[in-house]
Amino acid sequence: MLSHDGHVHTPFCPHGTADTLAAYAEEARKKGLSGLTFTEHAPLPASFQDPVPGGDSAMHPDELFPYLEAVERIKQEYRGSLTILSGLEVDYIHGWEKETKALLQEAGPYLDDSILSVHFLQTDSRWHCIDFSREAFEAAALDAGGRGPLYHLYYETLLQAIQADLGPYKPARLGHITLIRKFQHAFDQQVDDTPRIREVLHHLAAAGMQLDANTAGRYKPECREMYPPETFVQEAAGMDIPVVYGSDAHRSDHTGADIQSVASLLD
Ligand SMILES: [Zn+2]
Ligand SMILES: [Zn+2]
Repeated sequence: MLSHDGHVHTPFCPHGTADTLAAYAEEARKKGLSGLTFTEHAPLPASFQDPVPGGDSAMHPDELFPYLEAVERIKQEYRGSLTILSGLEVDYIHGWEKETKALLQEAGPYLDDSILSVHFLQTDSRWHCIDFSREAFEAAALDAGGRGPLYHLYYETLLQAIQADLGPYKPARLGHITLIRKFQHAFDQQVDDTPRIREVLHHLAAAGMQLDANTAGRYKPECREMYPPETFVQEAAGMDIPVVYGSDAHRSDHTGADIQSVASLLD
């Protein structure tokens, strides 16, 4: 699916921009894409407290059906010129599997293509959003006993996400599997997580899940590489894991960013 952007946000994202769904679709058309999937952050379980200060990690529960209807409308508008798929980026939150399964049960019949992502990790003392800010990442590392243990917790949680029983509408694709590296260049020493990335790929292959080849990290000043880095995208393809390009656009002009460079990795 390398003329398709499988990871696009919308104005329903409280931490994104007001760019309209049509603006994303027009950008996709301008860049010559065949289609895109809108994957807005699914509402978090009501009983889960968003650890981000503004509580704006995901869409409000009341917005879920208006969002799905808006995607349905634009899908019809572009019928014949752009393949628009309806999706969600669903958080895997360890311990909230039952609630997540219930949400998927409700929204699933309206979804074509979704992503399961890990943004939240629980240390002994509290929940952290690992990609919110460098300060939040550092606080999480401190609570976890260091960056090494935090990386360990992240990859363990990805493996749990792959194994989790989320019902028949469980997303087929795992999101940005090296998000834990988002602030890597803020530190002098790097954590060697190469074996863990390979472990995740093996589990993805065994589970028949897809890889989100997500270019957003290239534009994060302290990351400067895609999620996961190119070499692992190629390894995934070599293991017959379906690779789906994703811009993770939160503004319309990022739709389809770098799609050619990801496509060329797989030639
Ligand atoms: Zn977002
Ligand atoms: Zn994400």
